[in-house]
Amino acid sequence: MSKIYNVGIIGGGVSGVVISLQLAKYGIDNIVFEQEPSVVNGPPFCHLHAGGNLYPDISDEQCRILMKQSIEMARLFPQSIDERPTFISIPKTEVYTVENIESRLEMLVSYYKELIKEDPENEILGAPENYYKLYTKTDLVALAAQSTVKRPTSADEWMTNAIKLIDYEKLKTPIILVQEYGWNLFRLGAQAQLALEKAEHCDLKMNTFVTEIKDVREQNLDYNWEIHTKDAIYKVKYLVNSSGFKTGTIDESLHLNTERLIEFKAAYVSKWKPIPGLIPELIFHGKRGTPHGMAQLTPYCDEYYQIHGMTEDITLFENGLVHSEGNTVQPEFNKSITQKLHRDWKADEIKSRTENAIDFVGKFMPSFKSATVGGPPMYGAQQIPGNDPNLRVGEVHFPCPSYARSEIVKASSALTVANQILNKIKEEGHISIIPSKVKQNPLLDCISKQDINVLSSELAIQRGYPGALSKLVIEKD
Ligand SMILES: Cc1cc2nc3c(=O)[nH]c(=O)nc-3n(C[C@H](O)[C@H](O)[C@H](O)COP(=O)(O)OP(=O)(O)OC[C@H]3O[C@@H](n4cnc5c(N)ncnc54)[C@H](O)[C@@H]3O)c2cc1C
Repeated sequence: MSKIYNVGIIGGGVSGVVISLQLAKYGIDNIVFEQEPSVVNGPPFCHLHAGGNLYPDISDEQCRILMKQSIEMARLFPQSIDERPTFISIPKTEVYTVENIESRLEMLVSYYKELIKEDPENEILGAPENYYKLYTKTDLVALAAQSTVKRPTSADEWMTNAIKLIDYEKLKTPIILVQEYGWNLFRLGAQAQLALEKAEHCDLKMNTFVTEIKDVREQNLDYNWEIHTKDAIYKVKYLVNSSGFKTGTIDESLHLNTERLIEFKAAYVSKWKPIPGLIPELIFHGKRGTPHGMAQLTPYCDEYYQIHGMTEDITLFENGLVHSEGNTVQPEFNKSITQKLHRDWKADEIKSRTENAIDFVGKFMPSFKSATVGGPPMYGAQQIPGNDPNLRVGEVHFPCPSYARSEIVKASSALTVANQILNKIKEEGHISIIPSKVKQNPLLDCISKQDINVLSSELAIQRGYPGALSKLVIEKD
């Protein structure tokens, strides 16, 4: 008789891999199906949203959740965190006010202190009193006269390097520097893949597409679901759908109907000239979807920079946000977006969108206009449960017994979802879990930095990106 797994997980994105490793930490055997040749191969991520400061429009509650979840994920995958701050500014043309952002930052400092009180190891964003710093026009003028620092170690040094390049006359003051860090998806993917391959209780099937799920719950068998692939059928007691923007296709095969949005977006890889000192991530706020939506410049190693521009000719796309309608559980993109999702980008569109992105940042940092295309775009579709496109914290749904659907919107929610699924599996009596107070996962902790360096570089190159995108700007011991 073929093996019966406790849990079958469809999708080896950040959500699926974290669920698998959390289950394995408690000795619960599971099998992960990923159609691609490596894990964490879906939509990109580059920013650890430890406070939601890229989103002036979301609620304080969402900001707190983003901070808590980001800290949890950073503790799980420390080698994927790039500890450089984020420069947050509002152009004078925009309606947002610095006062609103500032009062939210105060709230976040208090909340961060609470998290540290709960567990001192949560202090991964530096001391709470240094979580953010405001810079007035006078401060900026003084810092702009200082020398550039090759590898900044204080907020003022980071701000000095940035402000010497930026046309700050275009920005409202004060300007903010906040400890929201970079997040390297290649490094997270490498650490997770190495851990999954080693873990006794995980069976990782890459290059394996799930074609169909059969519900056998009524047949009084020792298992509840059959997972079908081209070559085999796998039996599992508990089913986890973590197939990202494709969660609807699994729901469809189970005749479950749920409202959801899916959104296609892209960021662009550019190469610039060497500059004398490292700069923080740069954010120039603006209303999403308008021609002056937010611009985001994310620094990587070796003069590579990733750019988001929240306008339709850069990161967003015409008809890029689609909704499930009537009985259609899985929304569908039009032909042009579907082709891009299948890596079929036209060279002239890569060039024109990357150049638009460079010019967009160049409005605020004129010397950046000399940057050029540095690689293919980083793109993908993400799911947003329900019908609110501004939702940033999706979690998990349990539409019927023995079935969980992960609905994360930001990568930072992955551990929360994994723990919610563990609790549900226990509650439904599939397994008795011995609760542990240990937040870390030994399966991840035993993966060496050297092995992460090697595999993350291979993953970047295999996917057509410069190997430099797998390195941290601020290297960790
Ligand atoms: C441009 C862009 C920028 C972003 N930036 C950030 C950021 O800075 N910070 C952040 O936190 N979040 C960011 N996000 C969101 C983040 O990418 C997603 O939240 C996250 O990747 C979702 O992870 P997931 O595991 O749920 O889904 P996915 O990563 O989509 O994983 C699902 C996996 O399931 C596999 N799969 C699907 N169907 C099947 C099947 N039938 N059989 C086998 N395998 C299957 C897919 O191949 C895929 O690997 C960004 C998203 C985009 C689009």
